[in-house]
Amino acid sequence: MIAARVERMEIAEAVMAAGAAPQACVRSKPKCNLVSRESQDQDTVVRVGDVTIGGPRFAVIAGPCSVESAEQMVATATAVKAAGASLLRGGAFKPRTSPYSFQGMGEEGLKLLAIAREATGLPVVTEVMDSGDIPLVEEYADMIQVGARNVQNFSLLKKLGRVKRPILLKRGLMTTLDELLMSAEYILASGNSQVVLCERGIRTFETATRNTLDLSAICVLKERTHLPIIVDPSHAVGRRRFVAPMARGAMAVGADGVMVEVHCSPETALCDGEQSLTPEEFAAMMAELAVMGRPLHREL
Ligand code: PEP
Ligand code: MN
Repeated sequence: MIAARVERMEIAEAVMAAGAAPQACVRSKPKCNLVSRESQDQDTVVRVGDVTIGGPRFAVIAGPCSVESAEQMVATATAVKAAGASLLRGGAFKPRTSPYSFQGMGEEGLKLLAIAREATGLPVVTEVMDSGDIPLVEEYADMIQVGARNVQNFSLLKKLGRVKRPILLKRGLMTTLDELLMSAEYILASGNSQVVLCERGIRTFETATRNTLDLSAICVLKERTHLPIIVDPSHAVGRRRFVAPMARGAMAVGADGVMVEVHCSPETALCDGEQSLTPEEFAAMMAELAVMGRPLHREL
């Protein structure tokens, strides 16, 4: 496989050297070599601390959209852990549509995530938006998230390929599955094979939900790649009451886990309160997933 890739690159270089038009080099569709099932048939299992994503267990990442305070993080982390979550989420650098919206607590937020990890033992997942912040985020995070808006930030992806942390790569609002796989390929090609893909809803003509959850993406990606795939129903639907049914849908179609926003007081959340579950709603969702997982051989 690697030989085939090198050969293709050599042919492209030879064509360039011969002075041919650049189009001649890009006529054939580029292949995702490293992420493809052809290069590795066996499912990749990504390890985050003691937690695995992509094995028999169904991974549940839970926590607030944004880190807001130490009390909020510790209370949420304690509640989601008690309900069976395996990883804690929380954004310290927030990609907001408006520059006037809360942008996240930055380094202070990362420190609060570390406090919540200390209190509960849950490994933490958090987003990096700017490649200049990678060393800082790497210091605190057990897994680094690339948000939907950065899925094709190729210089960021290449730098994350050189990082010794697993990466959670979210699909963009308008990225095709081919493009998502190519973005993952950037990270693997730069040296980091620990990548988890995340379907988080795409932009369609439908306005009843925040985005449209593309559950068929799970089936397609499972066929095409050995990388684990999880679903973020919160950003997909944008409405609290639709989150649990979509999480069950994710499990039913073979996703390796879900990432769900949870807030102790959603009405006062600084970001995405409308789509955040209360700890009680989260516990109810977990109980449903546990029952559903039994015949599917997916333990939480
Ligand atoms: C998030 O998970 O915090 C987030 C901002 O999601 P997305 O990048 O999918 O919009
Ligand atoms: Mn959010």
